[in-house]
Amino acid sequence: MSPKNILVLNCGSSSVKYELMDVDSSVILARGFVEKVGMEDAVINHHYIVEYGYNDIKLVRDISTHRVGIKMVIELLQDEEHGVINDINDVYGIGHRVVHGGEGYTDSAYIDDKVKNDIKHCIELAPLHNPHHLAGIDATEKLIPDHHQVAVFDTAFHQTMEEDTYMYALPYELYKKHGIRKYGFHGTSHKYVAQHAAQLLEKRLDDLKIISCHLGNGASACAISGGVSVDTSMGFTPLSGLMMGTRTGDFDPAVLLYLINKESLSLSEVSTLINRHSGLYGISGISRDFREIIKNADKGNKRAQLALDMFVARIKHYIGAYTAKMNGIDVLVFTAGIGENSPVLRRMVCENMDYLGIEVCEEANNSCDEGVISPENSGVKVMCVPTNEELLIARETARIIEGLNK
Ligand code: AMP
Repeated sequence: MSPKNILVLNCGSSSVKYELMDVDSSVILARGFVEKVGMEDAVINHHYIVEYGYNDIKLVRDISTHRVGIKMVIELLQDEEHGVINDINDVYGIGHRVVHGGEGYTDSAYIDDKVKNDIKHCIELAPLHNPHHLAGIDATEKLIPDHHQVAVFDTAFHQTMEEDTYMYALPYELYKKHGIRKYGFHGTSHKYVAQHAAQLLEKRLDDLKIISCHLGNGASACAISGGVSVDTSMGFTPLSGLMMGTRTGDFDPAVLLYLINKESLSLSEVSTLINRHSGLYGISGISRDFREIIKNADKGNKRAQLALDMFVARIKHYIGAYTAKMNGIDVLVFTAGIGENSPVLRRMVCENMDYLGIEVCEEANNSCDEGVISPENSGVKVMCVPTNEELLIARETARIIEGLNK
């Protein structure tokens, strides 16, 4: 049987991330990152499979648009020297990461004119992401029109939340008029780690109550019961919930009214304040990078220590809330840059949680790359599970395309 190669594309404002993988074996044939799209000295970092491992090359090219960037990626994948496929027809389908699908999409979707239109409609809700995803979809369609394309939405996994969870206590008309509600993000990651945790535990996902903590520069928690999202900490935008690298997470919105009045802040200054100057960076005054926070806290820097303590406290808060919401917890998962790599953070979060049955085994926690880090007899399985959004997007893409042929 020929390999089922899926090309995963994630188009940002000035970047294209790509990964070509055989979805059945999960083998990555190539992956890379096109940086500085729109500039003459754009860079393609290409990582590709060779006979005994992987090779890396870096190319500097004039890449004026996403279309030019994706064309180069498609050529590079078939390149005699650095390519991994003979022909573009060796690609079974293309999966696009799309941040916002609004209320309409509870699942990934085969891309046609209606889906493109719906993604366009959601530009208002995700102005920093959806326009670039759409540019990538249009470019791919023009370059390889006979290939199937699928949109995998970050919001789709959370569309199972109940009305009493996703509504804000604002006038109801604002929900009807402007779609003001909680949508949730990082859905692809939460879904992947929940599925993978169940697999590692050899349990049925349907039987588990899981709290997934995606802790990277962006951070969110998700309560997953019976395989579906019942609540998540991000909301109308990816600003709410946990404290993040440079984002506030939850705080009293009246602070903004006060500051607008006191400091005559403009809309864009408010946006910069809460999205880029806050979080770990805003509290520590040092960095958004968690490693720097730990390093400086260890050296006795009080603001770095405060940033760390606040970050941990918010995570604990959501674990408590979601345990109550699901009337229990079977599995607590840590994922993404901080969750996967920081035993210190995992230990701090799980400290004084024995009332809920949560504890970590120091040895397992310090040495774990993937798997259970709680003691054997612990009531709750605490786990470290590296996320793999590209793999989930590839699987979703293959599933949707296969569904067409049934
Ligand atoms: P992500 O957005 O998932 O790439 O995660 C980025 C965050 O992970 C940054 O705050 C990094 O400092 C953090 N991170 C990456 N590696 C480590 C590590 N070994 N220990 C602690 N934090 C890490």
